[in-house]
Amino acid sequence: MNDWELSSRDKSAFRRKLLTWFEREKRDLPWRHNKTPYRIWISEIMLQQTQVATVIDYYKRFMRAFPNIIKLAQADESEVLKLWEGLGYYRRARQLHSAARVVVEQHHGQFPDSFDEVLALPGIGRYTAGAILSISADQPHPILEGNTVRLYSRLMLLEEQTTTSQSQKELWKFAEHLVPRKRAGDVNQALMELGNRVCKPRNPLCTDCAVRLYCRARAEGKQKLIPLPKRPPKYEDIHEAAIVVKRSDKYLVRECQPGERWAGLWDFPRFEVTSTDVTSQLVSDLKGATGLTVSLVDLKQTIKHAVTRFRITLDCFEAKSIRGQLKGNTFFRWVDSGEVEELAFSVTGRKIAKTLR
Ligand code: SF4
Repeated sequence: MNDWELSSRDKSAFRRKLLTWFEREKRDLPWRHNKTPYRIWISEIMLQQTQVATVIDYYKRFMRAFPNIIKLAQADESEVLKLWEGLGYYRRARQLHSAARVVVEQHHGQFPDSFDEVLALPGIGRYTAGAILSISADQPHPILEGNTVRLYSRLMLLEEQTTTSQSQKELWKFAEHLVPRKRAGDVNQALMELGNRVCKPRNPLCTDCAVRLYCRARAEGKQKLIPLPKRPPKYEDIHEAAIVVKRSDKYLVRECQPGERWAGLWDFPRFEVTSTDVTSQLVSDLKGATGLTVSLVDLKQTIKHAVTRFRITLDCFEAKSIRGQLKGNTFFRWVDSGEVEELAFSVTGRKIAKTLR
């Protein structure tokens, strides 16, 4: 028996207190109405790395455009990315789209209800599969995500880094220990909500906590010391330059290709800065990539942006006296300002686009 295991009696009391709190306090969120697997799946993917408050409007717009999985599978990837613009981590949107196509091709358009089949879909890991099936179909699968990692590690008094494989194994075991045969979806949502709103990272609100009697960290006064702080991420600094090239009311833009940072999204011509003579380098890089000869005006703005492990400094220039013709097969296109609005741009590309108005 593990130190953290609750007796069956304590486990029942724990769930009862948790669910009573959840019934009273739960937020009215759009994905909590009509809990189909499709609606839960979209919400779970959007909520990865993103705050609830940010997701709500994106979720409503997405559901209006793609009310079911067939509509999503039939859409162009560019439409999906456009609705995702600004949410970040675009790989999620591309995988969502390809998973919808897999469901249509392999499961006749019905979201599967077996854990292994859900797990086999692109972009779905153990947590997401468990969340979808427990919340939409009340299947008894455990869950473990950011909020519950913190909550469980305090409840069970895990005094190790939570990211090691041993800790992850223990945390999943604890999650399995808590999940009931019935009302698994409610218990899982309640655990996430309690972690988010009560068992907060810096100042857990222990006196308001429905399950404080079962918390080992609180019993030892260690709630603020657990989980152990993460080692700081290693960032890579990148210096890039973008060029706004405008000819006869049209802007030169490029679709980012698979394997690139913003694959599937659009951007202004952009190059890594490798020379101290940035202007000459950009003129030469642009000519090589597009066939166009330009002269550059001064630096217009510098954008700082952090994405995943990259810290990007992006210098933005404007091109003048544009000569020559665009080469074929380059993924570059001339678009008017209306299309600049409609296309899905990278975050920094959109920041540049806003300055064009
Ligand atoms: Fe978190 Fe405090 Fe509740 Fe323990 S008692 S689960 S530390 S809020």
